Amino acid sequence: MDEQNTNAPRVDAEEILDGIRQWVEIETPTHDGEAVNRLADVVEESMRSLGALIERTPGRDGFGDILKTRTPWGGDGPGILVLSHLDTVHPTGSLEEYNPWRREGDSVFGPGIYDMKAGAYLAYYAYQHLVRSGRETPLPVTFVYVPEEEIGSPTSRAFIEAEARKHKYVLVTEPAREGGKIVTGRKGVGRFAAVARGVAAHSGSRHADGRSAIKEIARLILAVEGMTDYERGVTTNVGLVSGGTGVNVVPHECRVDIDLRIPTPELAAEYQERILGLTAHDPDVELTVTGAINRPPYQKDAGIQSLFDHAKAVCAEVGFELKDMHTGGGSDGCFTAALGIPTLDGLGADGVGAHAQHEQIYFSSLEPRAKMWIRLLETLR
Ligand SMILES: [Zn+2]
Repeated sequence: MDEQNTNAPRVDAEEILDGIRQWVEIETPTHDGEAVNRLADVVEESMRSLGALIERTPGRDGFGDILKTRTPWGGDGPGILVLSHLDTVHPTGSLEEYNPWRREGDSVFGPGIYDMKAGAYLAYYAYQHLVRSGRETPLPVTFVYVPEEEIGSPTSRAFIEAEARKHKYVLVTEPAREGGKIVTGRKGVGRFAAVARGVAAHSGSRHADGRSAIKEIARLILAVEGMTDYERGVTTNVGLVSGGTGVNVVPHECRVDIDLRIPTPELAAEYQERILGLTAHDPDVELTVTGAINRPPYQKDAGIQSLFDHAKAVCAEVGFELKDMHTGGGSDGCFTAALGIPTLDGLGADGVGAHAQHEQIYFSSLEPRAKMWIRLLETLR
C-alpha cells in the first residue's frame, strides 16, 4: 500500500507494541503520584521531541501531574480533545508478581495494558505518524493525560471539564470491548457511605443496654440492595462493610460503602435523593449517609450519533466495521458528554481483563485502531 494513499495509512504494529511496552513497564498505581509522574515525564519528552506544545499542572493530594500537550498547528480555536489516564489500578510489583509482560499468540499481557496504556499510546502514535509524514490535521488536537481516573478523577475533573468546553470533539482512549466495540454511552456513577452509630455494651452482662450499629446497617444493606431495578437500568451495590470491635461487644459503629449506577440524569437525581434520605430504623441509632453522583450518565445524543457515524465511515475506509455499545462502567468521557460535547469513548485497543490479573490486549487490534486514530484526527473538521 502506498503511503501517499492517505485513506489507509501505513502503520507498524510491532513498533506500536514496543512503545506500549515502554509505557506498561513504568508501573503507575493511582495513589503513587511519583510513579505516575515518571510515565508523564516519558510522554512529555516524547511529545516535546515531536514539536508538541506542553503544559504541565502539578498534582494535588499526592496524585501525579496533569499533562496537556497540543499540536503546534491549528491555532487556538476549538479542536479535538484526546483524553487519557496514565494511572492503573495495579500496585507496583504487579509486573513481577502476577502479570509479567508476555506475548501468547494474539494476546499481549501486562498490568494496565488494556486499561488504558495501549489506547493512550495508540493516540500518541497517531500524532507521531502525522508529524513523521509531514501532515497536519484540519483541527488542532489537544492530548490530556490525567493521573487518577481510576478513583474518579477527583483532582482532574475540573481541568477535564474546562478543556472539554474549549473543544469541538472529545475522543477517549479507554479500552475497546467485545470485538472492538467503542463506547457511546455509559451509566453514571454514584458513591455513598453510610455510617451507623449505636451504643456499645458487653454482650453478656449488659446486652440490653447496647444498640447494635451492625444490626442497623444490616437492614440498610437490604434496603439499598433492594433499590436495584434492572428494568430501569439502575443497580446498587454495597461493596464494602466494616464494623464492630469484638465478638463479645454490641457494636457501636458500622460503615458501608455503596456504588450506584444510573442511566439518565433523572434517575441519578431520584436515586441520589433516595439513598441520602435513608433513615435509621432504631431511634437510638444515629445514621449518617453521605456521598453523591460522581460521574454523570453519558447518553448518546444527536451530536454523539453523528460523530459515531463519521468514525464508522472512517473505519470502513481503513477496512473494518466499527460498532458501538453502552456500558455500566464510568469514565472521564461521562464528564465531557454531560457537558454536551460530542464524545466517543472506548477507542483504545481491544482485549480483556481490565483491572484483573490477566489483563491483556489483542495484538491484531493495534493496526486497525492506529489507522482509525490517524484518519479520525485527519478527517474531523
Ligand atoms: Zn480506564
